Amino acid sequence: RTVYVNGEYLPETEATVSIFDRGFLMADGVYEVTSVLGGRLIDFDGHLARLERSLSELDMLKPAVFDDLLDIHRELVRVNGITDGLVYLQVTRGSDGDRDFVFPDPETTEPTLVLFTQSKPGLADSPAAKTGIRVIGIDDLRWGRRDIKTVQLLYPSMGKMMAKAAGADDAWMIEDGHVTEGTSNNAYIVKGNRIITRHLSNDILHGITRAAVLRMASEAQMQVEERAFTMEEAKAADEAFVTSASAFVMPVVEIDGATLGDGTPGPVAARLREIYLEESRKAAV
Ligand code: PMP
Repeated sequence: RTVYVNGEYLPETEATVSIFDRGFLMADGVYEVTSVLGGRLIDFDGHLARLERSLSELDMLKPAVFDDLLDIHRELVRVNGITDGLVYLQVTRGSDGDRDFVFPDPETTEPTLVLFTQSKPGLADSPAAKTGIRVIGIDDLRWGRRDIKTVQLLYPSMGKMMAKAAGADDAWMIEDGHVTEGTSNNAYIVKGNRIITRHLSNDILHGITRAAVLRMASEAQMQVEERAFTMEEAKAADEAFVTSASAFVMPVVEIDGATLGDGTPGPVAARLREIYLEESRKAAV
């Protein structure tokens, strides 16, 4: 595989980053994941805009090649022959060669930019989308700026392990009695003809897929309610689903052991998945 590191395309075995990089020492960095379908990038503009915002919220400068990021994504997709899969991008604050809590001078410290691809043949026809996934509820123990897409992913990883240990596929995180989001996705329930998902704030990541799916739902005359919901409400919902760049719209069929409906993906989730895949393939770049 060919990867990109600070201006160079290299074989993955030759790509290196300093051990003093603040991404490595302090999780001082941000990332984006953009999916690739049919060799083209899905929702690229949204991911780029969120990257710019994440950097700005952390007082990080944009990498010098920021305006070339589309070309860099396309080149990696091309050289690695990716039809379906994803492109991972990470920017960390770099390092001035020492460990210090204080940020290094941005004038003299270049951020570290890394991109690589992952091939996932048949990404849009995953078996899980046909059966639906099972989630459990766990406490949300993350920090308070979940709107910034940082590489600080230890707790979400632990959440996935807790789900696995409980025989489930993923976890929904709960704070003050309400679901915030999934470990790597935004969470939704469907009640009657209403789609309910948590409102935007610093408590959740502002999903790029979320924004696209809510827009498409409204265009299809579906009712959307942006508000927090409880696990009790979720367990009693008609259906549920999650959204993310790599899972698109993924039906949820079981929450904390409670089966939703007849235990198969509901019609709203199935329809939104279809609409999202169709529309975003058309708009892919
Ligand atoms: N919430 C969290 C915590 C996530 O990690 C992700 C995926 N990175 C999402 C939501 C979904 O965001 P997106 O649709 O932009 O992939």
